[in-house]
Amino acid sequence: MKNILSLVTLRCCTCKRFKNSLLFSKSNRKSRRCKNCHRKAVDKSVAKNLQRGFCRCGKEREDGRKACSRCLKSRREYNQRVREKVLAAYGRRCQCPGGCGITNKKFLSIDHVKGGGAGHRRTFKRQSGNEMYRFLIKSGFPKKDYRLLCHNCNQSRGFYGKCPHELGETI
Ligand SMILES: [Zn+2]
Ligand SMILES: [Zn+2]
Ligand SMILES: [Zn+2]
Ligand SMILES: [Zn+2]
Repeated sequence: MKNILSLVTLRCCTCKRFKNSLLFSKSNRKSRRCKNCHRKAVDKSVAKNLQRGFCRCGKEREDGRKACSRCLKSRREYNQRVREKVLAAYGRRCQCPGGCGITNKKFLSIDHVKGGGAGHRRTFKRQSGNEMYRFLIKSGFPKKDYRLLCHNCNQSRGFYGKCPHELGETI
């Protein structure tokens, strides 16, 4: 019985082509629009909505923002899930070699271990925030080049080369 769907051929109502039913998403099987045509239709409506100054979904934007409150919320939640994954994979704790132990996630961010070098910093900047986290997930959480540091350790290493923990200074 399995894969019975792969034997069914449906005709797309938009491009009029006969295609394997697997090329129709579940929700579109009724309307008989293939995934390809569906994607095109979505892209078109998104472009139209943006052009008219609305959120990509067609609702009114939040004041001064590029999306409606619902889309902003779901993006925020998505970004948080992405960040959670990265924090978990990197140990949820500041990895300062001098010993720091900060675990509050609001203090933690990803540090490029080999840091420094204008080139590196530029790449880092370009991949700032969520792009950076998505990049880490996609590359399977490389541990050699990236680690978690708290903002204090990160900043002081950036400014002074080492953080007070490593120098044994009073905190
Ligand atoms: Zn089609
Ligand atoms: Zn929206
Ligand atoms: Zn720290
Ligand atoms: Zn430190």
